[in-house]
Amino acid sequence: KGLIELRNVDFIYPNGNKALKDISMQIKPNEITALIGLSGAGKSTVLNLLDKFYEPTNGNIFLDGVDLKDFNTDFLRKNVGLVLQKNHIFKGSIAENILYGSEEKTFDDVIEASKKAFIHDQIIELPKGYETAANLLSGGQQQRIAIARIFLKNPAIIFLDEPTANLDAIATEQIKRSLDEIKKDRTVIIISHSISQIIDASNIIVMDSGKVSEHGTHEDLFNKK
Ligand code: ADP
Ligand code: ADP
Repeated sequence: KGLIELRNVDFIYPNGNKALKDISMQIKPNEITALIGLSGAGKSTVLNLLDKFYEPTNGNIFLDGVDLKDFNTDFLRKNVGLVLQKNHIFKGSIAENILYGSEEKTFDDVIEASKKAFIHDQIIELPKGYETAANLLSGGQQQRIAIARIFLKNPAIIFLDEPTANLDAIATEQIKRSLDEIKKDRTVIIISHSISQIIDASNIIVMDSGKVSEHGTHEDLFNKK
């Protein structure tokens, strides 16, 4: 469960930008799929289609064989966890931000999720702890709040857009470890403009100018001659 398939997908923005040109790809559960490519390659557009924020201009996207068009958006939002580059924190406390989208969770659950996202120690040092306004945190801390939210919500499908973009080397390593734990029984897609960020991915899709230019394992792509 959690197999995503794009078949011959085109996407043209309302202003006429052709962002995706006849893209096909398969994204399997139980592994990390990395979507890499230069800025403007179309990576974020793919995520926006998977999240049903946009619909393909042509072609189809299937989740476990069912066309995404036939899914209701609420169902999708419940089962998909997103970590985006921007706008993943809203007004409210850290605790409220971590709880967002989860039902029937306790404060202990919030703490456990924060520990897994390697942010708990920093939160408890704040004067108001978990009651601190989340927008007072740094960019990297906010990203980890979004990751903690995913640990709590436990969605079957997880999309991460440059989740370690604002983090230092140590935090990046910590987040990679959290992600490694998260991938079991899940479909994880992680966007990066840099291969060094996603060295652990088992499935790498390289995009270039709205197309898939390469697809394979790390070995396939870098050890071939
Ligand atoms: P990325 O780091 O993914 O390359 P960008 O800085 O290119 O992000 O874009 C940031 C946001 O601005 C995107 O989410 C996209 O929706 C929007 N955007 C990018 N290019 C355009 C454009 N040509 N016209 C309108 N909006 C755009
Ligand atoms: P990436 O995430 O790989 O940086 P994007 O998916 O953001 O690439 O962008 C792919 C192409 O679509 C780029 O040419 C970008 O300028 C364009 N684009 C992105 N968002 C918008 C938008 N909202 N409106 C118009 N064009 C956009």
